Amino acid sequence: MSPDIENLYEVTETKATSTCPGCQLALPKTGGPRHAYLGASPECWALFGELLAREYSDPSYFAVHGLTVDAYAAQHPGREERRTIQSIHVHLAALCLALEHDVALNDLIAVRKRIADYFADRLVWLSPPGDPGGLNVTDVLQADSAEVHSALVRAWATSVWNAWTAHHDAVRKIAKAALD
Ligand SMILES: [Zn+2]
Repeated sequence: MSPDIENLYEVTETKATSTCPGCQLALPKTGGPRHAYLGASPECWALFGELLAREYSDPSYFAVHGLTVDAYAAQHPGREERRTIQSIHVHLAALCLALEHDVALNDLIAVRKRIADYFADRLVWLSPPGDPGGLNVTDVLQADSAEVHSALVRAWATSVWNAWTAHHDAVRKIAKAALD
């Protein structure tokens, strides 16, 4: 762990709770693994694992899986490095195309890959928004049906996309180029 990350966690954590550096969710500290480069607390990352398990276990929940991953990744951008720069662009472009252009979620698989493969060298770090949006993984976990789950994932994705308003124009350019 680099000194910078240690400092970050000194500021945001107490003994009993941890605050997620991405979505700012405060949770009782349990520890556990964290993602290699997404900026998520171990506790938030574990809840995302629960959400993914729910989607993998039921095809009707899985229908919005791509959007779930895009929303989570864009809400947990992490720190500036090559793979986070690429990740932010891939997931924000997918959110842009899904939410503003109704591109089918299945078609976004190819778009994400195209951005990662062909645009990587042109991408620059987009400084993350101070406000991560009003919804997070715990809100989506409240769903008691696939229909509610889909609606909550869409609302979550929209709130994350809107949080990145300052970079919408830059993302739209990449998204459009990847679609052409
Ligand atoms: Zn989080």
